[in-house]
Amino acid sequence: MVVFCFLVDQRRKVKSSKPAAGTCSRCGGGASIADMKTSTRFCYVPFYWKTWRAIICTFCGALLRSYR
Ligand SMILES: [Zn+2]
Repeated sequence: MVVFCFLVDQRRKVKSSKPAAGTCSRCGGGASIADMKTSTRFCYVPFYWKTWRAIICTFCGALLRSYR
């Protein structure tokens, strides 16, 4: 049996975060500086990932600002 797999997905994970000044423009919740890790997977096998820093909302998880 041959299984064709063309599934590529991205996982975004928050490695660590600490409170930051500012509020979320969507829900008004508190913002926090987070170290993010994005991994791109092909057939559930990670083949590329990067870490980056962003300001996210701690309440709704919205991405408020990102640094590359
Ligand atoms: Zn929010």
